[in-house]
Amino acid sequence: MKKQYIIPIFIPHLGCPNDCTFCNQKSISGTKHMPTKEEIKNEIEKNLKYFKEEDKNVEIAFFGGSFTGIEPKLQEEFLQIANEYIISKQVNSIRISTRPDYINKDILKMLKKYHVKTIELGVQSTNDYILKKCKRGHTFEDVKKASKLIRWYGFKLGHQMMVGLPESTKLDEINTAKDLIKLKPKIVRIYPVLVIKGTQLEKEYEEKEYEPITVNQAVERCKELVYLFNKKKIEVIRIGLQNTEEITDPNDEKSSVTAGPYHPAFGQLVEDSIWYDSILDKIKAVNVKVKDAKLYVNPDNLNNAIGHKKSNIINIQKTYDVDLKVVADEKIKPGNSKLEIVKTYDDYLEEIRKKQEKVKS
Ligand code: SF4
Repeated sequence: MKKQYIIPIFIPHLGCPNDCTFCNQKSISGTKHMPTKEEIKNEIEKNLKYFKEEDKNVEIAFFGGSFTGIEPKLQEEFLQIANEYIISKQVNSIRISTRPDYINKDILKMLKKYHVKTIELGVQSTNDYILKKCKRGHTFEDVKKASKLIRWYGFKLGHQMMVGLPESTKLDEINTAKDLIKLKPKIVRIYPVLVIKGTQLEKEYEEKEYEPITVNQAVERCKELVYLFNKKKIEVIRIGLQNTEEITDPNDEKSSVTAGPYHPAFGQLVEDSIWYDSILDKIKAVNVKVKDAKLYVNPDNLNNAIGHKKSNIINIQKTYDVDLKVVADEKIKPGNSKLEIVKTYDDYLEEIRKKQEKVKS
């Protein structure tokens, strides 16, 4: 399998004339100024030096902001630079992210010309009332139109959605995922809303008009969405914002996060929780009460199966009184697992009975 590499180029808020209530792109992308052509070139060259493998897939990704909202001349200049690396076969593809209302046939033709392969749309919610509350400035209808057009032009479609937006419930988010599935994206990103300094949401939070969801709620909501997308073979490529110097613990004075479900390993918490459910299903499927078990997993899944700070092992012990040992096994395919019952509850009781008899005699 080819090794996948991404060269991220961050386009800050300047690329977006909009002001969604939750967004401060300067903090989210960690970049405050629009990169110059030289800086983009240097960034690409710097990254390429590290990619040693012969058999690799390299993608230049313009993240943050709204790429197709930047002044058209600048867009083309950026794409020209990236395209030179496609022509020289050092890079395989280009990815951009943008807003649904910044997509039209002319834009797509221009992106095609420069070999852009993937277009990710910031959707956030498919509920028009919630979109309005966040001042997104577009509707679900725009998302539908843009998604269809992107697919029609042969691009790989990606969607980004959020959990915990103002007035958004778990059901709204499930409905958003279901609506998106109908639009057939290939990839999805899910972001829990964090309250970022300098945003309107921060004011709403301070004035007690907005209450963020907790980390546990965010994990539960994201997990449900992952199940829905996975069922339709849509790949969830990211859960939670990337940690940066600014997107960090709200208690850190340099942090741009005021409140919300921040966790340094948020995506891992969701994956751990999915593993927890699957381990429990396996234990419950055994027709006897289990006391002691071993779970064999691929080494890639070891950390998720054990859980953050051993949370899965501890919770299974506390809640179900099962002593679980997770064992890495190369023979198990990633994502799969095999449960071995070491001791049933009957075995355990029998052991105690024998011990007591020994003591008596
Ligand atoms: S459209 Fe995107 S970049 Fe622009 S303000 Fe909204 S979230 Fe931020």
